[in-house]
Amino acid sequence: MASNLTFLGAAGEVTGSCYLFDTGKVKFLADCGMFQGGREGQRKNRRFHFDPREIAFVLLSHAHIDHSGLLPRLAAQGFEGPVYATAATAELLAVMLPDSAHLQEKEAGWERTEPLYTVAQAQACLGQLRTVEYAMAFKPDPAVRCVFRDAGHILGSAIIEIFLPEGKVVFSGDLGQPGRPIVEDPTPVAEADVLLVESTYGDRNHKSLVQTLDELAFALCDTLSSKRGNVVIPSFAVGRTQELLHYIAELRRQRRIPPGDVYVDSPMASAATRITLRHAKLPELEGLRFTDSLEDSMRINGVRSGAIIISASGMCEGGRIRHHLRYNVARPECAIVFVGFQAAGTLGRKIVDGAKSVRLFRENYPVRAKIFTINGLSAHADRDALLGWIGQFRRAPRQAYVVHGEPLAAEALKNSIVDGYGWRAAVPAPGQRVPL
Ligand SMILES: [Zn+2]
Repeated sequence: MASNLTFLGAAGEVTGSCYLFDTGKVKFLADCGMFQGGREGQRKNRRFHFDPREIAFVLLSHAHIDHSGLLPRLAAQGFEGPVYATAATAELLAVMLPDSAHLQEKEAGWERTEPLYTVAQAQACLGQLRTVEYAMAFKPDPAVRCVFRDAGHILGSAIIEIFLPEGKVVFSGDLGQPGRPIVEDPTPVAEADVLLVESTYGDRNHKSLVQTLDELAFALCDTLSSKRGNVVIPSFAVGRTQELLHYIAELRRQRRIPPGDVYVDSPMASAATRITLRHAKLPELEGLRFTDSLEDSMRINGVRSGAIIISASGMCEGGRIRHHLRYNVARPECAIVFVGFQAAGTLGRKIVDGAKSVRLFRENYPVRAKIFTINGLSAHADRDALLGWIGQFRRAPRQAYVVHGEPLAAEALKNSIVDGYGWRAAVPAPGQRVPL
């Protein structure tokens, strides 16, 4: 029997990344990600479209929850095999999966349902992680050989090459934007028989890094040089916070922003920064303070001016950022600087969209702080970078599948691949099975 591949998630959308390979002798997954986005996402997270006990192993592209977040549930439902990931991914998961479980337990408590998985189950599944190195071939099964390559998306992220009897499958994972700090550029791959390529930004380009840093410098300088207010930055704990610290140090070095204290007030961001420092370099940043304890966090509330306060969650939906908004959002001498995507319905989106007041801890606060939105800091390759990476293949794959993109973005990238390179390309439907 020939091998086949089923697109179980991140098909026509960007979350729930999960691909089931079946060689006839062995079944395995690439990624086991959580679906995000309201009730529909929650529903999809509850049911696997296969028997977890039949999965021999999992190849994991990176630590983001939409790629890894259902691993504890998979293990709790009978999956006993190894999960292959890079060392940095494994370290990040040790922080992120228990944190995700904690959120699941909290939500289940409010809604009086069973949690998707518990903290204990998340801890237990960490024992199934097996670390692999970039560029080192390994055989998770006698008939399957794999190589991980640096995807340059977040720390530890990988492109996965899978050699099967029918040929070579390349799964791009999430690809990074070239020229970014902390991570390398995505590794070029020369050959594939079947290619799965992400398309998050398949239909658009990012602003240039120069322009983005100009915007960031302006947003920070405007408030800090007045010496009257603080800058509050809601930021994703993993990746974005470390990138911000790099750019703040860079802008200081260029004397484009004044010196002062920089608080990282999120236990997850502190943990992710420590892991980053073990694997990559961050420039020295004077005045940098990590406030892990609640007492230290609360002490920031007394700081009236001159501080940059970076905290999570990135979309202001929970976490300590809400305390910092409470103490700064009503003060016209302060600034709130958004550096990441704000999904519809979130508090962050409301502020970005110009809300006159916000509700925090059951009280209304007028929005008087200056609001800045910096859009250029994405961890994903934009349209030109995706086409650049695709253009490095020396020959056309038999078939390219465009995954991990909303329908318009995926369709646009597919058309660019067909028109620009003359390859066979398709956007698979959720649940679609194809022969390899
Ligand atoms: Zn990702």
